[in-house]
Amino acid sequence: RLNAEALEARGLALEEARTEADRRAIEIEQASRYKSEFLANMSHELRTPLNSVLILARDLADNETGTLSDDQVESARIIHESGAHLLALINDVLDLSKVEAGKMSLDPVTIATADLAQVIRGRFGPVAADKGLEFTVESAPDLPRTMKADRGKIEQIANNLVSNAIKFTPEGGVAVRLALDHDGQALALSVADTGIGILPEDRQRVFAAFEQADSSTSRQFGGTGLGLTISRRLARLMGGDITLESNGDRGSVFTLLMPLGGPVPQPAPPPCAPE
Ligand code: ADP
Repeated sequence: RLNAEALEARGLALEEARTEADRRAIEIEQASRYKSEFLANMSHELRTPLNSVLILARDLADNETGTLSDDQVESARIIHESGAHLLALINDVLDLSKVEAGKMSLDPVTIATADLAQVIRGRFGPVAADKGLEFTVESAPDLPRTMKADRGKIEQIANNLVSNAIKFTPEGGVAVRLALDHDGQALALSVADTGIGILPEDRQRVFAAFEQADSSTSRQFGGTGLGLTISRRLARLMGGDITLESNGDRGSVFTLLMPLGGPVPQPAPPPCAPE
């Protein structure tokens, strides 16, 4: 059925939506909005009880009273780990459905670019070092000192790119390199690794929801296959993008491009549009 609100949003009066094609397009738009709203509500409702499970499982695993056996502590630890994975998945689904429903709000602030590099180095330097990887951060000498952007979202995207770079670079790989550069209009935050690389035929697929380059990689490395989908959607929502270069076996370079002057409003992409 036609919905007056959906028609109004498209600048159409009911009688103007004459053709079947118009009606069909509106129905699809509406159905996908309902789907995204349903997912957003459901994800939200799931988080509250799951948080209680996580807190209680962690208390049990801590075994402060000393009354649990080693096996029971191990079980509590596994419950906590599985719950944490589920929470990450729910948060990812919530983020994706918010972007698709056009409900992801942006909060642009002035960011010191040096600060951004510093935060990422502080967060991931030790993680890379644990795997014996060198983690370097470089900034172009003429990098603007500040930019306008949603800091939380840029950090979320950078976290995804850097944690993937570390995850997909096996021990014995060499390095992960974060570089900040610009072309006067956009910041380019690139993350280069010396890991397993991505084959040319998988370069588009890795940005699609729930897709992983291949199933054996997912078994070996874990993950949800949603990180890059969300990262690219967020980047595009802010008027930027994420690009990928990889020649299949000698590592990958993901680059986040972000307008220096602040988010450029974008029309919402069609849900699950091919990347
Ligand atoms: P996840 O890491 O949870 O699987 P992502 O959406 O972040 O989900 O990544 C999707 C897939 O892209 C990964 O499963 C992996 O196959 C591939 N990928 C992402 N980053 C890299 C990288 N730096 N090197 C090699 N493969 C990568």
